[in-house]
Amino acid sequence: MWGRQGWGSIDGGESDLGASDRVRVNPPIAKIETLVVQRDMIRRTLETLSFDNTYARLPQAFYARLSPTPFSAPPYLVHANQAAAELIDLDPAQLARPEFSALFGGSALTPGMEPLAMLYSGHQFGVYVPQLGDGRAILLGEVKNQRGERWDLHLKGAGMTPFSRDGDGRAVLRSTIREYLCSEALHGLGIPTTRALCIVGSDHAVYREEVETGAMLVRMAPSHVRFGTFEVFYYRKQHEHLRALADYVIDQHFSHLRNADEKYARFFIEVVERTAKLIARWQAVGWAHGVMNTDNMSILGLTLDYGPYGFMDDYDAGFICNHSDHNGRYAFNQQPYIGLWNLSCLAQALLPVAVKEALKAGLETYQPLFEQEYQKCMRAKLGLIDTRAEDDELIRDFLGLLQGSHADYTIVFRELSTFSSEQGATNPKLREHFLNRNHFDDWAARYRHRLQTESSRDDDRRVRMNRINPKYVLRNYLAQAAIEKAQQKDFCEIDRLFALLQDPYSDRPDMEAYATPPPNWGKHLSVSCSS
Ligand code: AMP
Ligand code: MG
Repeated sequence: MWGRQGWGSIDGGESDLGASDRVRVNPPIAKIETLVVQRDMIRRTLETLSFDNTYARLPQAFYARLSPTPFSAPPYLVHANQAAAELIDLDPAQLARPEFSALFGGSALTPGMEPLAMLYSGHQFGVYVPQLGDGRAILLGEVKNQRGERWDLHLKGAGMTPFSRDGDGRAVLRSTIREYLCSEALHGLGIPTTRALCIVGSDHAVYREEVETGAMLVRMAPSHVRFGTFEVFYYRKQHEHLRALADYVIDQHFSHLRNADEKYARFFIEVVERTAKLIARWQAVGWAHGVMNTDNMSILGLTLDYGPYGFMDDYDAGFICNHSDHNGRYAFNQQPYIGLWNLSCLAQALLPVAVKEALKAGLETYQPLFEQEYQKCMRAKLGLIDTRAEDDELIRDFLGLLQGSHADYTIVFRELSTFSSEQGATNPKLREHFLNRNHFDDWAARYRHRLQTESSRDDDRRVRMNRINPKYVLRNYLAQAAIEKAQQKDFCEIDRLFALLQDPYSDRPDMEAYATPPPNWGKHLSVSCSS
């Protein structure tokens, strides 16, 4: 398939986890009390979050130390994510405290934080830019949780840094809402991504195409190292720093390779695999990143830096979600190639520490890994269990039909679960999505035959398909409606979407309106990099 078209509320109460622990275990009363006490003991207050700032211990050339710049108007909490708070053992009751908004609105620090802006460079739209770096984000510190996991707390929109270039160091409420909702939406879809802890807003004016209000977002990830973090030391010919960075990343995140032969090349091969799989998952769910510059590529294979991204409504292989991307470099169907292009930039940056042939061999694994993962996801979307040679064509032809009919990608795949292996497309709604019904009927006959040749039951297949074909995705118009309400200080729509997208696979009769194609006003919303 490579190279062809068609790739195609903060309630301050008991946490869900605490409650379900008790339900699941069902112990006698005395034991319940012990469990609750133990949980309370491990819950951290803001002041006692446990930091272990490994990045701050790297050479000074890797970052600039500085504190966030507070807003010029008081901070207030827009939304906070209990599930993310749990990841850093933070009691959800803490989220409602004014100190929480002060801390994550950039006007306070807590003991243990060692704030810094990370240095990196990168290829933007194919052109190398020698210095980028955190121009509006500050790594507050790395929290180490009770399970020994480390989570970067990264405050986006925290004011100017030495890497701000011409920018003001701020983020607007609009863009923080987009990142907050989408990172949790992708997480809900099971796609590797950075997480988001909270948004803190303020009446602080920020100037974009028009005056907007500022906000800060706390992003969490095990690491914010990017391909561009390697590139900066390569192009500066600072090979000792390059090696120190590679050793650091391997030590922290690929520790099984610490003592391996050719560890840098093997590390690269693992990054290739993670990236190939990540992009295959984006393709399968119909999501485009919009700005796949190498500085936006996570070394851990996470979705990173949400900007002018988009979920497709109507299927269009050439979908361009970033209105500044005039040549379609980052169009939906280009993402797999760009993934490889970006990995070749990383390979280049690793040349001083790894053997060229080994890096080249690593790059060569990308395409088959991508194909394998993509085919696996698409076969699952069609409800197929076995792997057959003809599946590639079946998938491709289905995408061609969607493209020709401007059919809604999410809705059609969801409705496909109603297909009967005995009687075909019995659901008239499904057939109506296709402009050329004869072509659809031909395809449906092949699909029916294909389903009949494997031993699966329709009702089992339906359940399987509904676990991979989401009912709800963060369509641009849904995010836009939440943004417009939030700009009037009404955050209920963020809350509603946030809750919905945490479980995008379950039918919610009260939320049918959120599973519909965009109204006319929401079809071609302009989303660009300036946010
Ligand atoms: P992005 O397009 O968000 O990935 O950002 C690309 C580069 O521009 C990074 O170095 C960012 O830190 C920087 N940048 C983006 N927006 C701003 C801003 N408002 N102020 C300062 N730097 C920014
Ligand atoms: Mg970026």
